[in-house]
Amino acid sequence: MAAKLVVGNWKMNGLGAALDEARAVASGLGATSARVGLCPPATLVERMARALAGTPVLVGGQDCRAEVSGAFTGDVSAEMLADAGAALVILGHSERRAGYGETDALVAAKVEAALRAGLEPIVCVGETLAEREAGRALAVVTGQVRGSLPAALAGRAFSLAYEPVWAIGTGLTPTIAQIEEVHAAVRAELVSVLGPAGARAPILYGGSVKPSNAAEILSAAEVGGALVGGASLKAQDFLGILAGA
Ligand code: PEP
Repeated sequence: MAAKLVVGNWKMNGLGAALDEARAVASGLGATSARVGLCPPATLVERMARALAGTPVLVGGQDCRAEVSGAFTGDVSAEMLADAGAALVILGHSERRAGYGETDALVAAKVEAALRAGLEPIVCVGETLAEREAGRALAVVTGQVRGSLPAALAGRAFSLAYEPVWAIGTGLTPTIAQIEEVHAAVRAELVSVLGPAGARAPILYGGSVKPSNAAEILSAAEVGGALVGGASLKAQDFLGILAGA
């Protein structure tokens, strides 16, 4: 069985002192078989990469610009993240899709940028509560998968993260049956878009994962790991999630 990929998304949280939590994650990993990543705010990527050098914990960005460089005040390119020591990058998070109007086409362009820079993209998809209640969850999610994945992904390391918008930061989680239904649909879409390469990419679940529900979620069919927000900020919680991987 492939190793689970468990990644923490710190969002806009963390000053320099928070690197102690990252160090505590690295020193508390024990014999986990999971691949582990932490995605701090851009200001901490380089410092975290230095702090975790020589440990198995991968460092990632939370977004990148599609262009290499230029007049894009405030933005960070994939090359800049790689130069700072990142190995991963989260793309198409629902907070970016909703808050910054990111379309599937833009996410696909960012995925191409990540590949160009040698980063492993984690591409996020997920339906809103209104879309689920309208019976459109599968159509929305598979549409996002199809639109957000460039053909260039075939043969490259990447993962998908299914994150129902209504489960992010709310304490609500879908049932295991709901997670398995969406992950099966995502897998079929991945294979349809990318061929055999789509059969290998891990499909992470994200949305209110915590130590008490991680083991059950991570053992569900087609769940290849987890993307963790709030519970990744404290090493003890994140290590509790990893114990279930
Ligand atoms: C996220 O934002 O990617 C996320 C999964 O958040 P949380 O775990 O806090 O729901």
